[in-house]
Amino acid sequence: MFDKFREECGVFGIYGHAEAAKLAYLGLYALQHRGQESAGIATADGTRVRAVREMGYVNDIFDQQTLATLPGHIAIGHTRYSTAGESKLSNAQPILIDCVHGQVGVCHNGNIVNANEIRDRLVRDGSIFQTNSDTEVFVHLYARSAAGAVAEAVADSITKLAGAFSFAVITKDHLFAARDPHGFRPLALGRLGDAWVVCSETCALDLINATYVRDVEPGEVVVIGPDGLRSIRAFPPTRLAHCVFEHVYFARPDSEVFGQSVNEVRSNLGRLLAVEQPVEADVVVPIPDSGVCAAIGYAEEAKLPMRFGLIRNHYVGRTFIEPAQSIRHFGVKVKLNPVRSILAGQRVALIDDSIVRGTTSRKIVKMVRAAGAREVHMRISCPPTVSPCFYGVDTPQKSELIAATHTLDEIRRYIGADSVGYLSLDGLLNAVGARRQHYCTSCYTGQYPVAFPRDENAYLQLTLKLHGTVPLPEEEPEGVV
Ligand code: SF4
Repeated sequence: MFDKFREECGVFGIYGHAEAAKLAYLGLYALQHRGQESAGIATADGTRVRAVREMGYVNDIFDQQTLATLPGHIAIGHTRYSTAGESKLSNAQPILIDCVHGQVGVCHNGNIVNANEIRDRLVRDGSIFQTNSDTEVFVHLYARSAAGAVAEAVADSITKLAGAFSFAVITKDHLFAARDPHGFRPLALGRLGDAWVVCSETCALDLINATYVRDVEPGEVVVIGPDGLRSIRAFPPTRLAHCVFEHVYFARPDSEVFGQSVNEVRSNLGRLLAVEQPVEADVVVPIPDSGVCAAIGYAEEAKLPMRFGLIRNHYVGRTFIEPAQSIRHFGVKVKLNPVRSILAGQRVALIDDSIVRGTTSRKIVKMVRAAGAREVHMRISCPPTVSPCFYGVDTPQKSELIAATHTLDEIRRYIGADSVGYLSLDGLLNAVGARRQHYCTSCYTGQYPVAFPRDENAYLQLTLKLHGTVPLPEEEPEGVV
């Protein structure tokens, strides 16, 4: 509904708890913001793996009865938003198969950039795929691994993959957690009594009263079983490339990712934005919810009042019935409403984390003006988004990104603001502090840390994403907000 990069997926795993399925359910509840298309849980009791997965929200899928069908002391769970593969039940996770190494279930966050290449090779060798998700290549590699032990088969399969992946993997008596060597996606390790927990974000640990121990290291496979926890270094050390957009937008502000508080980094982005892009304004207004932390930082630094001049309706579902063709652009109005008493007669600094196509920003600026604002100045707490993501984030192709094809003044005119200002790349990296060289910033620079696949079909797909021709957002009829 909003013109945003879309979240990827959330993964969760627990080993050594009598109520593993219920805790996985709660963990997924905390990670629901990372994917709302489908969810699933697989559990193991030492003899067998069972799984339930459905389309929809975690709360819609699981109830007491469903969770009762998932016994065992080990569980993994997944919330999905599709970045590779369609949104349909067969692509929902955990993916569960039975093979020569026994049953294995897998949950994945990220995007395996050589998946098509591996898939084509496996299909030529006789493999039959059940989904069109990139994650399925992992289970095929696992099934074919010549490694004798299950843990070594998991590590062996993972080393064949390139791109972004944080995995939670279950077998009848083990939990595995693994991260790609660049560490694109977060994966935290925690403890709940004697049980071990892994999850995409620490907000899932908080909900179940688990304590954070450390991150699963980039390139590490953590093996948790009856003999305790051990670590396999599956990849040699390489350049780290944590997704900086986790801090800018995806992760919850109450989480710590890549060893840093999301709230702190996001507030820093706002402070630095105020230094780099000051504006004569009366009030700072965040575009909720994505702009809130940065707006707090901006207002603090600029010594301006911050007010919630736009109120978000949190109860809007994924779809709504539109009243008539003539008001089909109601999407933003349904989700946001302006507070006239805050906006009327004011010079407003409007804070958001990104402008992707510009379509939503344009509607919001119009809405703020219609509520009586005297001036509207858009301030963005990250650099212009000029290139698509290939590492597990759903982005439009390059030609749809307004900053890739328009000058700053053209963007200003398109969205109808009095001024537009972005944070610089240096400002973004200053906000994450000393670890600035450990971050991926490809969507702001077009410089990609992991090469694209050599396979021709996959390459064509990716090239289209970079260079395809899609018309820019249409002008809307007057009077439509
Ligand atoms: S390209 Fe952007 S969204 Fe994708 S991993 Fe890099 S920083 Fe994150």
